[in-house]
Amino acid sequence: MRNVYMDYAATTYVKPEVLEEMLPYFTEKFGNPSSFYGISRTTKMAIDEARLKIAKALNCKAEEVYFTGGGSEADNWAIKGIASAHKNKGNHIITTKVEHHAVLHTCEYLEKQGYEVTYLDVDKEGFINLDDLKNAITDKTILVSIMFANNEIGTIQPIKEIGEICKQRNIYFHTDAVQAVGNVPIDVKEMNIDMLSLAGHKVYGPKGIGVLYIRQGIKIDNLIHGGGQERSRRAGTENIAGIVGIGKAIELANDNLESHMKRMTELRDRLIDGLLKIPYTRLNGPTGDKRLPGNVNVCFRFIEGESILLSLDFEGICGSSGSACTSGSLDPSHVLLAIGLPHERAHGSLRLTLGEGSTIEDVDYVIETVPPIIERLRNMSPLWDDFLKKGEN
Ligand SMILES: *Cc1c(COP(=O)(O)O)cnc(C)c1O
Repeated sequence: MRNVYMDYAATTYVKPEVLEEMLPYFTEKFGNPSSFYGISRTTKMAIDEARLKIAKALNCKAEEVYFTGGGSEADNWAIKGIASAHKNKGNHIITTKVEHHAVLHTCEYLEKQGYEVTYLDVDKEGFINLDDLKNAITDKTILVSIMFANNEIGTIQPIKEIGEICKQRNIYFHTDAVQAVGNVPIDVKEMNIDMLSLAGHKVYGPKGIGVLYIRQGIKIDNLIHGGGQERSRRAGTENIAGIVGIGKAIELANDNLESHMKRMTELRDRLIDGLLKIPYTRLNGPTGDKRLPGNVNVCFRFIEGESILLSLDFEGICGSSGSACTSGSLDPSHVLLAIGLPHERAHGSLRLTLGEGSTIEDVDYVIETVPPIIERLRNMSPLWDDFLKKGEN
């Protein structure tokens, strides 16, 4: 049996070149960067170097790169940090209905603390409407947080236009770029981005390490208090191996960006075409270059996403029915509901995300394996039975 991993949006392996650079920082190069001897200078220099690599990939200054304990922490810090530092100016935050839970649940928490949050609607492909954004801004708005690219359906938002609107209205713009980095070009200057979140483990780096880019001059409160690390903005002895790892991973991703995008897009479109041959199947999210190169998300009517995943697992295929964070709960994906799918259809979704290790053989294996599974599951489905008897009602 083949083993086909198609859940790169949930997490990736660590590339061998990345691991190799990390290893010495667990053993001989273990000095605390805040101390004053040779091995400490070594680790301090390694951190500086990683910061530079990330700054180069984002087109910002090294001093604007802050290391965090992952993507969720970066999102929490950006939103809570701005909310608390600017509460004298206002208490209004704008985000969207399709954000990752690291953003959504942070906003819900702030609502309980007295902040007001506007959750923008999206259209049937998952895009926000720029006029909706303009209309939502009030003189109390302090922050706009809109994800770069959606982790479930791959929609890439008009980031530069959003940045332009925020800049004109003098409002901070944060974007969760965890899914975008290594998959689409990012330039924080050109796109008018004030804050941007990244995570190591979605881009062939280690888990438990992330980055928040904070444009110079932005007033933001700390999330983690303690020692003076990260220029006194994020306390805690540095995760040096993790920092070295995310630096290397993002450098590699950036160097290979164009060829990676091209290869992923070809595999993606082949997989989409193959799956859409199955009757009563629809693609969720946009097509073309407004969709993440490695993202496929389809709905098969009349069946449950979970039963598809179980059958796929049996054939050696790892996929997801939405985001890893919501699987295990019976609620359909908030993203699929936001693009207007009724509950019943949102349940029959399958997300397959491609990455560096994916091959054309993997894609063809999936295209061969899925149709008989869908047919078998439909034959057991009372919804399908009903549909055959009565047709659309
Ligand atoms: C994975 C993910 C996160 C969370 O990052 P962690 O490093 O797992 O905390 C945040 N936002 C998006 C869009 C993600 O895909």
